[in-house]
Amino acid sequence: MICAPEFQLNAIPSITFYYADKTTTAKIMSAKLIDTFGREIDYARLSVTDRCDFRCVYCMAEDMTFLPKAEILSLEELLSIASALIDSGIKKIRLTGGEPLIRNNIMWLIEAISKLDGLEELTLTTNGSQLRKYATQLRRCGIKRINISIDSLQADKFKSITRTGQLQQVLDGIDAAIDAGFESIKLNSVILKNRNDDEVLSLVNFARQKNIDIAFIEEMPLGDIVEHNRLLSFCSSDELRSIINKEITLTPSHKKTNGPATYYSLANSNTHVGFISPHSHNFCAECNRIRVTIEGRLLLCLGNEHSVDLRSVLRDSEKSQAALTQTIKDSMKIKPERHYFDLEEKPQIVRFMNTTGG
Ligand code: SAM
Ligand code: SF4
Repeated sequence: MICAPEFQLNAIPSITFYYADKTTTAKIMSAKLIDTFGREIDYARLSVTDRCDFRCVYCMAEDMTFLPKAEILSLEELLSIASALIDSGIKKIRLTGGEPLIRNNIMWLIEAISKLDGLEELTLTTNGSQLRKYATQLRRCGIKRINISIDSLQADKFKSITRTGQLQQVLDGIDAAIDAGFESIKLNSVILKNRNDDEVLSLVNFARQKNIDIAFIEEMPLGDIVEHNRLLSFCSSDELRSIINKEITLTPSHKKTNGPATYYSLANSNTHVGFISPHSHNFCAECNRIRVTIEGRLLLCLGNEHSVDLRSVLRDSEKSQAALTQTIKDSMKIKPERHYFDLEEKPQIVRFMNTTGG
Protein backbone atom coordinates (compact mmCIF):
# COMPACT_ATOMS: atom_id res chain seq x y z
CA MET A 1 0.00 0.00 0.00
CA ILE A 2 1.04 3.60 -0.43
CA CYS A 3 1.40 5.88 2.58
CA ALA A 4 -0.22 9.25 2.03
CA PRO A 5 2.47 11.91 1.97
CA GLU A 6 2.59 14.79 4.41
CA PHE A 7 1.12 17.50 2.28
CA GLN A 8 2.91 20.81 1.88
CA LEU A 9 2.68 23.35 -0.89
CA ASN A 10 5.81 23.43 -3.04
CA ALA A 11 7.33 20.48 -1.22
CA ILE A 12 7.98 17.07 -2.76
CA PRO A 13 7.44 14.61 0.09
CA SER A 14 8.98 11.17 0.03
CA ILE A 15 6.76 8.14 -0.58
CA THR A 16 7.11 4.73 0.94
CA PHE A 17 5.89 1.50 -0.67
CA TYR A 18 5.32 -1.70 1.24
CA TYR A 19 5.13 -4.96 -0.65
CA ALA A 20 4.40 -8.30 0.97
CA ASP A 21 7.80 -9.81 0.08
CA LYS A 22 10.39 -9.95 -2.66
CA THR A 23 8.66 -12.81 -4.50
CA THR A 24 5.47 -10.76 -4.76
CA THR A 25 7.48 -7.82 -6.10
CA ALA A 26 9.20 -9.97 -8.73
CA LYS A 27 5.85 -11.42 -9.84
CA ILE A 28 4.33 -7.97 -10.02
CA MET A 29 7.19 -6.62 -12.17
CA SER A 30 6.74 -9.26 -14.85
CA ALA A 31 2.93 -8.99 -15.08
CA LYS A 32 1.23 -8.65 -18.45
CA LEU A 33 -2.33 -7.48 -19.06
CA ILE A 34 -3.92 -9.45 -21.87
CA ASP A 35 -7.58 -9.03 -22.82
CA THR A 36 -9.93 -11.73 -24.08
CA PHE A 37 -9.11 -10.81 -27.71
CA GLY A 38 -5.41 -11.49 -27.12
CA ARG A 39 -4.39 -7.82 -27.13
CA GLU A 40 -1.65 -6.80 -24.71
CA ILE A 41 -2.69 -3.69 -22.80
CA ASP A 42 0.41 -1.81 -21.68
CA TYR A 43 -0.70 1.82 -21.93
CA ALA A 44 -3.00 3.81 -19.62
CA ARG A 45 -4.29 7.34 -19.76
CA LEU A 46 -4.81 8.71 -16.30
CA SER A 47 -7.01 11.76 -15.91
CA VAL A 48 -5.81 14.01 -13.10
CA THR A 49 -8.66 16.54 -13.21
CA ASP A 50 -11.94 17.18 -15.04
CA ARG A 51 -11.39 20.93 -14.81
CA CYS A 52 -9.88 23.13 -17.48
CA ASP A 53 -9.04 26.77 -18.15
CA PHE A 54 -10.39 26.37 -21.73
CA ARG A 55 -13.85 25.31 -22.95
CA CYS A 56 -13.09 23.85 -26.39
CA VAL A 57 -16.30 23.61 -28.39
CA TYR A 58 -15.84 19.91 -29.28
CA CYS A 59 -14.86 18.89 -25.75
CA MET A 60 -17.10 20.76 -23.32
CA ALA A 61 -20.30 22.71 -22.95
CA GLU A 62 -19.82 26.45 -22.37
CA ASP A 63 -21.38 26.26 -18.94
CA MET A 64 -19.86 23.18 -17.36
CA THR A 65 -20.66 21.67 -14.01
CA PHE A 66 -17.55 19.99 -12.69
CA LEU A 67 -17.44 17.13 -10.21
CA PRO A 68 -17.65 17.85 -6.48
CA LYS A 69 -14.36 17.45 -4.62
CA ALA A 70 -15.48 14.35 -2.71
CA GLU A 71 -15.97 12.49 -5.98
CA ILE A 72 -12.57 13.17 -7.46
CA LEU A 73 -9.44 11.24 -6.62
CA SER A 74 -6.88 12.90 -4.36
CA LEU A 75 -3.27 13.08 -5.51
CA GLU A 76 -2.40 10.19 -3.15
CA GLU A 77 -5.24 8.11 -4.63
CA LEU A 78 -4.03 8.88 -8.14
CA LEU A 79 -0.58 7.70 -7.12
CA SER A 80 -2.03 4.45 -5.72
CA ILE A 81 -3.86 3.89 -8.99
CA ALA A 82 -0.72 4.57 -11.04
CA SER A 83 1.15 2.08 -8.89
CA ALA A 84 -1.57 -0.59 -9.26
CA LEU A 85 -1.68 -0.02 -13.04
CA ILE A 86 2.06 -0.68 -13.25
CA ASP A 87 1.81 -3.73 -10.99
CA SER A 88 -0.89 -5.14 -13.21
CA GLY A 89 1.21 -4.82 -16.40
CA ILE A 90 0.91 -1.21 -17.61
CA LYS A 91 4.28 0.12 -18.78
CA LYS A 92 3.39 3.56 -20.11
CA ILE A 93 1.17 6.20 -18.52
CA ARG A 94 -0.07 9.41 -20.11
CA LEU A 95 -1.45 12.08 -17.77
CA THR A 96 -4.40 13.97 -19.15
CA GLY A 97 -7.64 15.68 -18.12
CA GLY A 98 -9.25 18.29 -18.25
CA GLU A 99 -6.09 20.32 -18.16
CA PRO A 100 -3.55 18.38 -16.06
CA LEU A 101 -1.31 21.38 -15.37
CA ILE A 102 -4.02 23.38 -13.58
CA ARG A 103 -4.45 20.77 -10.82
CA ASN A 104 -2.98 22.03 -7.53
CA ASN A 105 0.35 20.42 -6.67
CA ILE A 106 0.39 18.46 -9.91
CA MET A 107 4.20 18.49 -9.94
CA TRP A 108 4.21 16.44 -6.73
CA LEU A 109 2.16 13.73 -8.44
CA ILE A 110 4.20 13.80 -11.64
CA GLU A 111 7.46 13.48 -9.77
CA ALA A 112 6.08 10.66 -7.60
CA ILE A 113 4.71 8.67 -10.56
CA SER A 114 7.94 9.14 -12.50
CA LYS A 115 9.79 7.35 -9.68
CA LEU A 116 7.58 4.23 -9.66
CA ASP A 117 9.48 1.02 -10.41
CA GLY A 118 8.44 -0.71 -13.62
CA LEU A 119 7.17 2.40 -15.42
CA GLU A 120 8.89 2.71 -18.79
CA GLU A 121 7.41 6.01 -19.88
CA LEU A 122 5.44 8.90 -18.42
CA THR A 123 3.94 11.40 -20.87
CA LEU A 124 1.49 14.28 -20.74
CA THR A 125 -1.19 15.87 -22.92
CA THR A 126 -1.73 19.57 -22.25
CA ASN A 127 -3.40 22.60 -23.79
CA GLY A 128 -0.08 24.41 -23.31
CA SER A 129 -1.43 27.31 -21.28
CA GLN A 130 0.77 26.55 -18.26
CA LEU A 131 3.86 25.27 -20.07
CA ARG A 132 5.81 28.48 -19.71
CA LYS A 133 5.69 27.83 -15.96
CA TYR A 134 6.16 24.05 -15.94
CA ALA A 135 8.09 22.90 -19.04
CA THR A 136 11.53 22.79 -17.42
CA GLN A 137 10.24 21.03 -14.28
CA LEU A 138 8.39 18.46 -16.40
CA ARG A 139 11.53 17.71 -18.38
CA ARG A 140 13.51 17.40 -15.14
CA CYS A 141 10.99 14.81 -13.88
CA GLY A 142 12.00 12.58 -16.77
CA ILE A 143 9.07 13.35 -19.08
CA LYS A 144 10.58 12.94 -22.55
CA ARG A 145 7.52 13.39 -24.76
CA ILE A 146 4.55 15.73 -24.55
CA ASN A 147 1.50 16.47 -26.66
CA ILE A 148 0.24 20.04 -26.92
CA SER A 149 -3.19 20.81 -28.36
CA ILE A 150 -3.60 23.74 -30.75
CA ASP A 151 -6.38 24.07 -33.33
CA SER A 152 -5.71 27.50 -34.81
CA LEU A 153 -2.87 29.96 -35.31
CA GLN A 154 -5.24 32.94 -35.57
CA ALA A 155 -5.94 34.61 -32.23
CA ASP A 156 -9.64 35.32 -32.84
CA LYS A 157 -10.35 31.84 -34.19
CA PHE A 158 -8.34 30.23 -31.42
CA LYS A 159 -10.48 32.17 -28.94
CA SER A 160 -13.71 31.13 -30.63
CA ILE A 161 -12.76 27.42 -30.59
CA THR A 162 -11.40 27.35 -27.03
CA ARG A 163 -13.92 29.98 -25.85
CA THR A 164 -11.51 31.24 -23.15
CA GLY A 165 -8.00 30.52 -24.48
CA GLN A 166 -5.30 33.03 -25.42
CA LEU A 167 -3.29 31.92 -28.46
CA GLN A 168 -0.12 33.78 -27.40
CA GLN A 169 -0.03 31.94 -24.08
CA VAL A 170 -0.05 28.59 -25.91
CA LEU A 171 2.54 29.72 -28.48
CA ASP A 172 4.78 30.78 -25.58
CA GLY A 173 4.13 27.38 -23.99
CA ILE A 174 5.20 25.57 -27.17
CA ASP A 175 8.42 27.62 -27.29
CA ALA A 176 9.04 26.89 -23.60
CA ALA A 177 8.65 23.16 -24.31
CA ILE A 178 11.09 23.38 -27.23
CA ASP A 179 13.58 25.26 -25.02
CA ALA A 180 13.19 22.65 -22.27
CA GLY A 181 14.54 20.01 -24.66
CA PHE A 182 11.80 17.35 -24.79
CA GLU A 183 12.83 14.46 -27.05
CA SER A 184 9.51 14.66 -28.82
CA ILE A 185 6.77 17.28 -28.96
CA LYS A 186 3.57 16.57 -30.87
CA LEU A 187 0.85 19.10 -31.58
CA ASN A 188 -2.73 17.79 -31.61
CA SER A 189 -5.36 19.54 -33.73
CA VAL A 190 -9.05 18.79 -34.05
CA ILE A 191 -10.24 20.14 -37.41
CA LEU A 192 -13.87 21.22 -37.92
CA LYS A 193 -15.31 21.98 -41.34
CA ASN A 194 -15.82 25.70 -42.07
CA ARG A 195 -14.13 26.53 -38.82
CA ASN A 196 -10.43 25.74 -39.02
CA ASP A 197 -10.11 23.47 -42.07
CA ASP A 198 -8.52 26.42 -43.87
CA GLU A 199 -5.64 26.25 -41.39
CA VAL A 200 -4.52 22.68 -41.97
CA LEU A 201 -1.58 23.70 -44.16
CA SER A 202 -0.56 26.56 -41.85
CA LEU A 203 -0.57 24.14 -38.91
CA VAL A 204 1.63 21.64 -40.81
CA ASN A 205 4.01 24.45 -41.82
CA PHE A 206 4.09 25.74 -38.25
CA ALA A 207 5.07 22.26 -36.97
CA ARG A 208 7.69 22.00 -39.71
CA GLN A 209 9.15 25.40 -38.86
CA LYS A 210 9.32 24.44 -35.16
CA ASN A 211 10.76 21.00 -36.04
CA ILE A 212 8.07 19.15 -34.11
CA ASP A 213 5.32 16.65 -35.03
CA ILE A 214 1.60 17.24 -35.52
CA ALA A 215 -1.43 14.92 -35.48
CA PHE A 216 -4.92 15.70 -36.73
CA ILE A 217 -7.76 14.09 -34.77
CA GLU A 218 -11.24 13.41 -36.15
CA GLU A 219 -13.85 14.81 -33.77
CA MET A 220 -15.49 12.09 -31.66
CA PRO A 221 -19.12 12.17 -30.49
CA LEU A 222 -18.41 12.32 -26.76
CA GLY A 223 -20.88 14.34 -24.69
CA ASP A 224 -24.02 16.02 -25.98
CA ILE A 225 -22.94 19.39 -27.38
CA VAL A 226 -25.23 22.02 -28.93
CA GLU A 227 -22.57 24.46 -30.18
CA HIS A 228 -22.20 22.79 -33.58
CA ASN A 229 -23.56 19.88 -35.55
CA ARG A 230 -20.93 17.17 -35.47
CA LEU A 231 -22.11 15.62 -38.69
CA LEU A 232 -21.84 18.92 -40.61
CA SER A 233 -18.50 19.85 -39.09
CA PHE A 234 -16.90 16.43 -39.59
CA CYS A 235 -13.61 16.47 -41.53
CA SER A 236 -12.19 13.05 -42.31
CA SER A 237 -8.48 12.29 -42.22
CA ASP A 238 -8.68 11.50 -45.95
CA GLU A 239 -9.98 15.02 -46.66
CA LEU A 240 -7.18 16.54 -44.58
CA ARG A 241 -4.55 14.43 -46.33
CA SER A 242 -5.76 15.58 -49.72
CA ILE A 243 -5.69 19.26 -48.62
CA ILE A 244 -2.08 18.81 -47.45
CA ASN A 245 -1.00 16.74 -50.45
CA LYS A 246 -1.94 19.59 -52.81
CA GLU A 247 1.06 21.53 -51.51
CA ILE A 248 3.22 19.19 -49.47
CA THR A 249 3.96 15.58 -50.37
CA LEU A 250 3.13 13.18 -47.54
CA THR A 251 5.10 9.92 -47.61
CA PRO A 252 3.83 7.00 -45.46
CA SER A 253 6.17 6.54 -42.50
CA HIS A 254 6.93 3.62 -40.19
CA LYS A 255 6.78 5.93 -37.16
CA LYS A 256 4.75 4.39 -34.32
CA THR A 257 3.82 5.91 -31.00
CA ASN A 258 1.69 4.44 -28.20
CA GLY A 259 -1.39 5.98 -29.77
CA PRO A 260 -3.49 5.04 -32.82
CA ALA A 261 -2.09 7.69 -35.21
CA THR A 262 -0.92 6.78 -38.72
CA TYR A 263 2.14 8.86 -39.62
CA TYR A 264 3.57 10.44 -42.76
CA SER A 265 6.91 12.13 -43.29
CA LEU A 266 7.69 15.32 -45.20
CA ALA A 267 10.61 15.79 -47.58
CA ASN A 268 13.65 17.54 -46.05
CA SER A 269 12.09 17.72 -42.60
CA ASN A 270 12.08 15.79 -39.31
CA THR A 271 8.41 16.62 -38.85
CA HIS A 272 5.89 13.78 -38.98
CA VAL A 273 2.22 14.39 -39.70
CA GLY A 274 -0.17 11.97 -38.01
CA PHE A 275 -3.86 11.24 -38.47
CA ILE A 276 -6.07 9.81 -35.73
CA SER A 277 -9.17 8.49 -37.42
CA PRO A 278 -11.63 6.88 -35.01
CA HIS A 279 -14.40 7.16 -37.65
CA SER A 280 -12.77 6.55 -40.98
CA HIS A 281 -10.13 3.96 -40.03
CA ASN A 282 -11.11 1.81 -37.09
CA PHE A 283 -7.99 1.03 -35.04
CA CYS A 284 -9.55 -1.18 -32.36
CA ALA A 285 -7.72 -4.36 -33.44
CA GLU A 286 -4.47 -2.78 -32.27
CA CYS A 287 -5.90 -1.33 -29.06
CA ASN A 288 -3.30 -1.38 -26.29
CA ARG A 289 -4.90 1.01 -23.84
CA ILE A 290 -7.22 1.69 -20.96
CA ARG A 291 -8.24 4.94 -19.28
CA VAL A 292 -8.89 5.98 -15.70
CA THR A 293 -11.23 8.93 -15.12
CA ILE A 294 -10.75 11.40 -12.31
CA GLU A 295 -13.58 9.64 -10.42
CA GLY A 296 -11.52 6.46 -10.51
CA ARG A 297 -13.60 4.77 -13.19
CA LEU A 298 -11.48 2.38 -15.21
CA LEU A 299 -12.75 2.73 -18.79
CA LEU A 300 -12.00 -0.23 -20.99
CA CYS A 301 -12.87 1.59 -24.24
CA LEU A 302 -13.27 5.23 -25.26
CA GLY A 303 -16.40 4.49 -27.26
CA ASN A 304 -18.19 2.15 -24.83
CA GLU A 305 -19.40 2.46 -21.26
CA HIS A 306 -17.72 -0.76 -20.02
CA SER A 307 -16.03 0.30 -16.80
CA VAL A 308 -14.93 -0.76 -13.34
CA ASP A 309 -15.11 1.36 -10.20
CA LEU A 310 -11.56 1.56 -8.79
CA ARG A 311 -12.45 4.33 -6.34
CA SER A 312 -14.67 2.07 -4.26
CA VAL A 313 -11.83 -0.45 -3.94
CA LEU A 314 -9.39 2.34 -3.09
CA ARG A 315 -11.69 3.82 -0.41
CA ASP A 316 -12.62 0.48 1.15
CA SER A 317 -10.42 0.21 4.24
CA GLU A 318 -10.73 -3.59 4.13
CA LYS A 319 -9.15 -3.75 0.69
CA SER A 320 -5.41 -3.64 0.03
CA GLN A 321 -3.27 -2.25 -2.78
CA ALA A 322 -3.05 -5.85 -4.06
CA ALA A 323 -6.87 -5.93 -4.34
CA LEU A 324 -6.72 -2.79 -6.48
CA THR A 325 -4.16 -4.43 -8.79
CA GLN A 326 -6.30 -7.58 -9.01
CA THR A 327 -9.38 -5.49 -9.90
CA ILE A 328 -7.47 -4.00 -12.83
CA LYS A 329 -6.35 -7.45 -13.98
CA ASP A 330 -9.92 -8.79 -13.72
CA SER A 331 -11.26 -5.90 -15.79
CA MET A 332 -9.66 -7.43 -18.90
CA LYS A 333 -12.61 -9.86 -19.05
CA ILE A 334 -14.95 -7.02 -20.05
CA LYS A 335 -12.78 -5.02 -22.44
CA PRO A 336 -14.93 -4.75 -25.59
CA GLU A 337 -13.64 -5.70 -29.01
CA ARG A 338 -14.28 -2.32 -30.67
CA HIS A 339 -16.07 1.03 -30.60
CA TYR A 340 -18.96 2.11 -32.82
CA PHE A 341 -19.29 5.86 -33.43
CA ASP A 342 -22.26 7.24 -35.34
CA LEU A 343 -22.36 10.97 -36.03
CA GLU A 344 -25.97 10.87 -37.17
CA GLU A 345 -27.31 9.51 -33.89
CA LYS A 346 -27.39 11.33 -30.58
CA PRO A 347 -24.12 10.46 -28.82
CA GLN A 348 -24.33 7.13 -27.04
CA ILE A 349 -21.49 8.23 -24.80
CA VAL A 350 -22.80 11.03 -22.62
CA ARG A 351 -19.55 11.77 -20.82
CA PHE A 352 -17.53 14.66 -22.24
CA MET A 353 -13.92 14.18 -23.30
CA ASN A 354 -12.70 16.14 -20.25
CA THR A 355 -14.25 13.53 -17.94
CA THR A 356 -13.11 10.66 -20.11
CA GLY A 357 -9.50 11.85 -20.13
CA GLY A 358 -8.57 12.42 -23.76
N1 SAM B 1 -6.54 19.67 -21.90
C1 SAM B 1 -5.56 18.89 -22.55
C2 SAM B 1 -5.51 19.15 -24.03
O1 SAM B 1 -6.42 19.81 -24.55
O2 SAM B 1 -4.56 18.69 -24.66
C3 SAM B 1 -5.72 17.41 -22.29
C4 SAM B 1 -7.10 16.84 -22.31
S1 SAM B 1 -7.94 16.90 -23.88
C5 SAM B 1 -9.47 16.13 -23.50
C6 SAM B 1 -7.02 15.71 -24.81
C7 SAM B 1 -7.20 15.75 -26.31
O3 SAM B 1 -8.53 15.38 -26.60
C8 SAM B 1 -6.97 17.11 -26.94
O4 SAM B 1 -5.99 17.00 -27.95
C9 SAM B 1 -8.31 17.48 -27.54
O5 SAM B 1 -8.17 18.19 -28.73
C10 SAM B 1 -8.94 16.12 -27.74
N2 SAM B 1 -10.41 16.13 -27.75
C11 SAM B 1 -11.25 16.67 -26.87
N3 SAM B 1 -12.55 16.44 -27.21
C12 SAM B 1 -12.51 15.73 -28.37
C13 SAM B 1 -13.51 15.19 -29.23
N4 SAM B 1 -14.81 15.31 -28.96
N5 SAM B 1 -13.09 14.51 -30.31
C14 SAM B 1 -11.77 14.36 -30.60
N6 SAM B 1 -10.78 14.85 -29.82
C15 SAM B 1 -11.15 15.54 -28.72
FE1 SF4 C 1 -9.76 21.72 -21.94
FE2 SF4 C 1 -8.35 20.03 -23.41
FE3 SF4 C 1 -11.03 19.87 -23.36
FE4 SF4 C 1 -9.90 21.92 -24.56
S1 SF4 C 1 -9.70 19.78 -25.16
S2 SF4 C 1 -11.60 22.01 -23.10
S3 SF4 C 1 -8.12 22.27 -23.36
S4 SF4 C 1 -9.68 19.50 -21.67
